[in-house]
Amino acid sequence: MSYEHTRICMYPRGHSGITMIAMSPLIFLQDLPEMFILYLCVTVLFSVVPDFDALDIYPISKISHRGITHTVWFGIFCSLILFSVLSTVPLPVIELSNQQTVTLSACAAAGVLFHIIGDIINEDAGVAIFNPIIQYEVVLGLVDSTGIKNDILFFVGSGMMFLLLASIS
Ligand SMILES: [Zn+2]
Repeated sequence: MSYEHTRICMYPRGHSGITMIAMSPLIFLQDLPEMFILYLCVTVLFSVVPDFDALDIYPISKISHRGITHTVWFGIFCSLILFSVLSTVPLPVIELSNQQTVTLSACAAAGVLFHIIGDIINEDAGVAIFNPIIQYEVVLGLVDSTGIKNDILFFVGSGMMFLLLASIS
């Protein structure tokens, strides 16, 4: 699995790092660290899903990069898909309550949203998050999308998460 180099994309490490940093305050809202870890894993997983449109694999390569997978609609779509799966297929090791199922489904949308935020703050190109209804592209250009900044984001995010989990368990 490789990303096509001619397409612009922030590295998965950068998106994972931003997601972990954004999720870290929420750890104090959870009674069970185990559930938070599950929520975190789902959110981090979905924070890298939108850039699957940069994979050089047919027919995915036909999807325009930073197109439909970088919209709020895709986040809602991922959330609904996950909710449908979790509602019909029980997890093998844990029985989810309705609230936990809804929260996990919301984590999918949150992951996509954190990905979009990551792309907006990097300097490469804008993201039309409400495309096709509103085609205005949002871009801040604070971080470039390649190189050591992605590693720093990942290191800071995973370090924060490790310290927080260690402090509450
Ligand atoms: Zn992206």
